Amino acid sequence: MSEKLLQPVTAVKGIGAERAQELSALRIQTVLDLLEHFPYRYEDYRVRDLAEAEEGEKITIIGRVYGEPAARFFGKKKSKLSVKVVVDNVVVTAIWFNRHFLKNQLQAGREIMLSGKFERSRLQLVVSEHHFMDTGKVPVQEGSIQPVYSTVASVQVKQIRKWIATALEQFGDEIDEILPGFLLQKYRLMTRREAIRNIHYPASIHDGKQGRRRLAFEELLLFQLKMQAYHAVNRQTTSGIPQKIAMDRVGEFVHALPFPLTNAQKRVVKEILTDMRAQYSMNRLLQGDVGSGKTVVAAIALFAAVSAGFQGALMVPTEILAEQHYGSLRELLEPWGIEVALLSGSATVRQRRDILAGLQSGMTNVVVGTHALIQEDVYFDRLGLVITDEQHRFGVEQRRILREKGLQPDVLFMTATPIPRTLAITAFGDMDVSTIDELPAGRKPIETYFVRHAMLDRVLSFVRKELEKGRQAYVISPLIEESEKLDLQNAIDVHTQLTHYFGGEFKVGLMHGRLPSREKDEVMQQFSRNEIHVLVSTTVVEVGVNVPNASVMVIYDAERFGLAQLHQLRGRVGRGAEQSYCILIADPKSEVGKERMRIMTETNDGFEVARRDLELRGPGDFFGTKQSGLPEFKIADVVQDYRMLEVAREEAAALIGSKRFWKEPEYSPLRRYLRQDEYFLEKIKD
Ligand code: ADP
Ligand code: MG
Repeated sequence: MSEKLLQPVTAVKGIGAERAQELSALRIQTVLDLLEHFPYRYEDYRVRDLAEAEEGEKITIIGRVYGEPAARFFGKKKSKLSVKVVVDNVVVTAIWFNRHFLKNQLQAGREIMLSGKFERSRLQLVVSEHHFMDTGKVPVQEGSIQPVYSTVASVQVKQIRKWIATALEQFGDEIDEILPGFLLQKYRLMTRREAIRNIHYPASIHDGKQGRRRLAFEELLLFQLKMQAYHAVNRQTTSGIPQKIAMDRVGEFVHALPFPLTNAQKRVVKEILTDMRAQYSMNRLLQGDVGSGKTVVAAIALFAAVSAGFQGALMVPTEILAEQHYGSLRELLEPWGIEVALLSGSATVRQRRDILAGLQSGMTNVVVGTHALIQEDVYFDRLGLVITDEQHRFGVEQRRILREKGLQPDVLFMTATPIPRTLAITAFGDMDVSTIDELPAGRKPIETYFVRHAMLDRVLSFVRKELEKGRQAYVISPLIEESEKLDLQNAIDVHTQLTHYFGGEFKVGLMHGRLPSREKDEVMQQFSRNEIHVLVSTTVVEVGVNVPNASVMVIYDAERFGLAQLHQLRGRVGRGAEQSYCILIADPKSEVGKERMRIMTETNDGFEVARRDLELRGPGDFFGTKQSGLPEFKIADVVQDYRMLEVAREEAAALIGSKRFWKEPEYSPLRRYLRQDEYFLEKIKD
């Protein structure tokens, strides 16, 4: 990278210290930052043929003033000025709002260039910019395509245009190529220099797109290169634990399960055990739809680790879930002499001390707990496997903590949010992915209905009928974003209403995040034992909870939830032999909102839900939170540029896997890019 590009942005003529200060708000510090401040769209000021312009389109035309202008006033400040203009023998009415002072300049016969919104039906143009051709000087933007940049209040887009144009003039020739020539040829990409010029000042929309394409490809390739390099470097290091798994014992364990594994489960178990037996550390994502049987797979992996003489840990996001997994793992593992412990927030000091001692001595084989498990002063004798459930984010940070404890266990991440491939390979690009894409046989699909709030009475009488059949129901109270307090109040209100509605007939329970964990347990247990018939809850039940007798899931204000979340909630029912129902109560205002509810009623397949949600809302909203762990791309769009992402991934893998990449000078810009990451500094040569 040319040093000149790394100078402070004040090296650009016309940018002083004060301007530089303002630009820093746009994260522009260096000349390169300015050059890489890409436009997000263009204004097309090229003169258009009226016949081709569409209704409402913004266009630029040149014509001659014809007849007298007329001005009308509304109140003190508002005015409307109109004049007829002849454009290629067509008479168009040009209209200005609040610019009546232009009236005197609009002499008949004068040639004028007008940009604005075209109303085809009335042959009107609402003018936003105009220019008299007889004044000689034509401002830059007219007659060309102009970039539009994101900016801050103190800096006008026009100024950014000017600075970037100046920077290109001064420093454009310093922009060096970083991609190898064969990729440019193979994908017909512009050079970096051409691309940066073209994305800012394209001669045609096509050129602008080509510039963008090149830069997006570069961005995706660099990202994938990093991911693949993490992966490759991890595979090469020999610091992982090669676990000597007693495969025959694992076989017996699987054989003794109350059901045969699905083919998908068999496949992913194989993938996981292969990693565990290898010299590298496993770094694998296990995804599968709700109810696809991930817990059993986790149990098999834990069993395998213990059979090799190691300890295993299962980490989950909530206490409720920890309890639940603890229960199912004990049931599965204890008959085999495996000691399972629960490290929960509600343990007494003494209990806690005993559990910690058991882990440190190696007496305890498997421990279940929340994510605090690895962060606190918990020491293991021989930790070989860490499984984390329902977490998108457990990643780099937690792995670092484990490393700092001197542990290089195999790590398996489980997520019940099916992730469309395009997001999986970006958010989890450095991991291997195992997918359970098959449900155990004999599951009845859940029937999903979308109803308006006005139908609440009918919903409740439906719930009553199910309760009368001996079933149970969940009712999820409205979600108020960012306000736990209001969430809680909502849950309490719904609880009060329903308690009243069901009278003494059925017991209505309440569950929310603020309950002390002891009480949460108590409520969950009562619900499990069918002592509570209707469980009103905030979204805390979302993950993992398993009560097979529950057959109805009612969700208030369903339009406020992400589809992935709704699908998760829906997954709480349909776990028993009975037909189950999910009722979404919503009054969506927008078409998109309605479409989202329709998607839920149309498919039970989590991957399909995820794919359509992603299409509808884009990747930022997909996980429902900003802290999704998705990288932010400057120019690439993982949804729109899906195909390019796939190609970039393949090329990155090929590069990383080739000998040339690590040696030849042509690749040194890419290697230098990787070395910017501390992780690679020692591991990769310049
Ligand atoms: P997930 O965690 O993927 O949502 P679970 O592991 O909780 O799913 O499994 C859901 C239910 O399916 C559990 O009751 C489990 O015992 C059962 N199950 C898992 N695998 C199978 C299988 N191969 N055949 C039949 N039932 C299964
Ligand atoms: Mg290993």
